[in-house]
Amino acid sequence: MTKTSTTIGSDWGYAPAPESADHFKLKDQYGLFIGGKFVPAASGKRLKTINPANEKVIAEVADGGEKDVAKAVQAARTAYDKVWRKMSGRERGKYLYRIARIIQERARELAVVESMDGGKPIRESRDVDIPLAAAHFFYHAGWGDKLRYAFPGKSVSPIGVAGQIIPWNFPLLMVAWKVAPALACGNTVVLKPAETTPLTALLFSEICQEAGLPEGVFNLITGAGSTGAALVNHPGLDKVAFTGSTEVGKAIQKSLAGRGTRLTLELGGKAAHIIFEDATIDQAVEGIINGIYFNQGHVCCAGSRLLVQESVEEEVVTKLKARMESLIVGDPLDKNTDIGAINSKAQWDRIRDYLKIGEEEGAELFQTKCSVPEKGYWIRPSFFTRVAQSHRIVQEEIFGPVLAIQTFRTLNEALEKANNTPYGLSGGVWTDKGAKIFKVTRGIRAGVIWANTFNKFDPTSPFGGYKESGYGREGGRHGLRPYVELS
Ligand code: NAP
Ligand code: MG
Repeated sequence: MTKTSTTIGSDWGYAPAPESADHFKLKDQYGLFIGGKFVPAASGKRLKTINPANEKVIAEVADGGEKDVAKAVQAARTAYDKVWRKMSGRERGKYLYRIARIIQERARELAVVESMDGGKPIRESRDVDIPLAAAHFFYHAGWGDKLRYAFPGKSVSPIGVAGQIIPWNFPLLMVAWKVAPALACGNTVVLKPAETTPLTALLFSEICQEAGLPEGVFNLITGAGSTGAALVNHPGLDKVAFTGSTEVGKAIQKSLAGRGTRLTLELGGKAAHIIFEDATIDQAVEGIINGIYFNQGHVCCAGSRLLVQESVEEEVVTKLKARMESLIVGDPLDKNTDIGAINSKAQWDRIRDYLKIGEEEGAELFQTKCSVPEKGYWIRPSFFTRVAQSHRIVQEEIFGPVLAIQTFRTLNEALEKANNTPYGLSGGVWTDKGAKIFKVTRGIRAGVIWANTFNKFDPTSPFGGYKESGYGREGGRHGLRPYVELS
């Protein structure tokens, strides 16, 4: 086991507290999940998925191609026409409910696999990702027979077959965000998970089998970006839902132009987290930590830009540094770990590039002094001060544990800076004054804005972006809309 960096202060440290991984067994190889069965890719090709904390191969998964996509879309179409669209909403809801219950039953296994495959701390996969994934299925199970109340006065019907593509930062949770509303509304699905984190989506396929979900209602095609492109380009889809980078989102939008396929895009973000001088500073510092260091900063709605009122800058930065020094970076399976491994070598390189770019642009870098394991991909919690609005580290999404700190004097200046990026996904505000909260939440053009808290998620609450952060909403009643036809 890797020794975690557990030294806090000088003498006191935490003993390692690793979560065990011996209560389940992963297979060495996984197939694609098509028509209710696991099958190899037509090409016979496979990809390796590795553990970013130790660079070891965990399993091999099938590398799906065009032929596999065609088979999966066909299976989804057959299931849609013959079974799923005809089933009553009440019956569909029962399947979703069963899936939610099995996710709960297998929660420990799912949490450990999520942390092994993606590098996130076990505390987060155990307490956030997996319970929220189950909650999404419970919530949407309830909508199954109530869709006419969601859209009063309208006749509601499903759309058809949905192609869904998800990223690597919240692998199972993104499966839930995508699949639960689609199925609740009577659609069938072909989903492609990210190349680096396919395992919990594969376990989810097993869960669908275990729940007795009719074959073909949910299909999974593992693979890389080209597999995702093959899915998007398949003419048999009625709807595409994509979560990922703005760059790939734009490419998908181009390739769907002129086709009748509906599209929703959940893309990147560069949220402003605004701290006013009247805020409770100690709580705000916890909010900043949660905003940018949760899940190694691999969070589309991360509070990656801190805007702090000039009069409290020194206090905030001093307290932030002290709190950051207590963060433990290391083994994702250790229950003491605050910050796990960076998800992949590619993402690790990208973050290190941005650290260089920031310094070259003239910003001042602070990183904590904690030790990190030798093997694996690690970044110490970091922030930049002396940054300008035009700096790339302020304008571009880093998707790592790197914060850019700016100051402001007036509320209007804060709003102007907050809105001055191409993104509009989320934001945050800390103040004692309710009136300021309303001014800020109205003034920032973003889909979600948290007040005196940050990174809170709930299946009943819609999530999504403006500007280059995409369009369409997931969660809540708004999240049903992209999956239904109204007349
Ligand atoms: P990405 O490179 O865009 O990949 C997302 C997914 O698309 C992956 O499954 C990827 O496969 C696939 N893909 C890649 N190229 C494709 C193509 N040409 N056609 C179709 N699919 C393709 O993004 P990422 O780096 O995985 O994820 C990070 C990004 O996601 C960040 O920008 C983040 O902000 C965003 N994100 C947004 C939200 C939201 O709700 N707004 C939530 C989470 C993440 P491979 O993995 O095999 O490359
Ligand atoms: Mg992996």
